[in-house]
Amino acid sequence: MNKFDYMEKHGYEQLVYFFDKTTGLKGITCIHNTTLGPALGGTRLWNYECEEDAVLDCLRLARGMSYKAAAAGLNLGGGKTVLIGDAAKVKNEAYFRALGRYVQSLNGRYITAEDVNTSTKDMDYVHMETNHVVGLEGKSGNPSPMTALGVFHGIRASLMHVHGNDDISKYSFAVQGTGQTGYYLVKMLIEAKAKKIYFTEINPKHIEKMKKECPEAEYVKPELIYGLDVDVFSPCALGAILNDDTIPQIKAKIIAGSANNALQDEEKHGMMIKDRNILYAPDFVINAGGLINVYHELFTYVKERAVRDIEKIYDRLLEIFSIAETENISTHAAAKVFAKNRIETINNLHSNYIPR
Ligand code: NAD
Repeated sequence: MNKFDYMEKHGYEQLVYFFDKTTGLKGITCIHNTTLGPALGGTRLWNYECEEDAVLDCLRLARGMSYKAAAAGLNLGGGKTVLIGDAAKVKNEAYFRALGRYVQSLNGRYITAEDVNTSTKDMDYVHMETNHVVGLEGKSGNPSPMTALGVFHGIRASLMHVHGNDDISKYSFAVQGTGQTGYYLVKMLIEAKAKKIYFTEINPKHIEKMKKECPEAEYVKPELIYGLDVDVFSPCALGAILNDDTIPQIKAKIIAGSANNALQDEEKHGMMIKDRNILYAPDFVINAGGLINVYHELFTYVKERAVRDIEKIYDRLLEIFSIAETENISTHAAAKVFAKNRIETINNLHSNYIPR
């Protein structure tokens, strides 16, 4: 891969390599676009097979964060850090303090947070060296219930678009995965008196927990979740689950859940869903609740304010569904149009000089 060609093609600003000789920290930070504000994105620690895989992952994830932040109405750009290493061996105080020093060296152009294989505890070490970190212990708290809250409002918006009515009590749901986000979503659906809820899981502990705490929801085997005769299918587990095999099985008129990269192939499967007359709530818009919540840490964190911003996912999705209809494109493509429009409009707005 020619990195400069790739950066030019997709509008990247910066790609930084760093190595710390004391701790063996090896990492890459990518800043995609800072038109709206500092680039924010978590630090992922992964034992990549090769450097090329790590760079590509970092570039791809940073770009995704630009669209996610823009579509969420936040004044943030997109960035990401990947660390190359074995999480079972490399993690300690010095390792994350070394990371904090590299984050600090970017002087606020990039803000980090936890991600795969990094925790709030690790971010506390990062914080010893820099203030450009969010998701700290005792601040905005666990993002998952907030992500689930955004998904809940996104489901309501999808129901409104399809049926002209968003009363949860009139509809049935199939939730795939009841981990950090799916569990809270099911609780919210029960509280809103959903007509029927099915769930599936592969972790026996989570199944037990659900049976104990949410007896209103009915367990089904993983392979049966797609073909259920329900109003909403809510993927809250893995990515790439919307593909050639699964899409033809889906009877629900709405797909709306927390899972990242749910479409195996964004273009092909986005259109396949559209052609089957199913409404898909784009993942990076509907699952932005956790990001919106953590964004509020950059100011004085007030939970009510974060919740109010998360509720706006409802209107944002309605706008995206409307773009998709007008332009005759998939909702995923429409979400990208929506995000890019916001970046471009704010950029143009800032073209005149106003002293502040
Ligand atoms: P999680 O790991 O806590 O939960 C996922 C659950 O899905 C687990 O309980 C797992 O056992 C189950 N699962 C895995 N494969 C399954 C299968 N084939 N069938 C049924 N169940 C299966 O993860 P999470 O934090 O709830 O995240 C779920 C998705 O949402 C991920 O794609 C994640 O990237 C995305 N997401 C999460 C957040 C957040 O705040 N946690 C924010 C944005 C996006």
